[in-house]
Amino acid sequence: MRVEVDPNICEGHGQCNAVAPEVYDLDDDGYSVVKVPEPGPDLEEPAREGAAACPVQAITISE
Ligand code: SF4
Repeated sequence: MRVEVDPNICEGHGQCNAVAPEVYDLDDDGYSVVKVPEPGPDLEEPAREGAAACPVQAITISE
């Protein structure tokens, strides 16, 4: 699994970090930084939940 945040779409809502802080960090301005771009099995569910929580669909998950 690969997790990417499109910085052109991310509006800094912070929902990804609120739902899955183990995968998504926030920079000083509140924009998402992917801490674990290639989550292992134990982090796949939080990665998906964080992506689903993003109100502007800035997070792409690919297999
Ligand atoms: S929830 Fe979406 S818009 Fe908000 S910080 Fe995360 S990626 Fe960016």
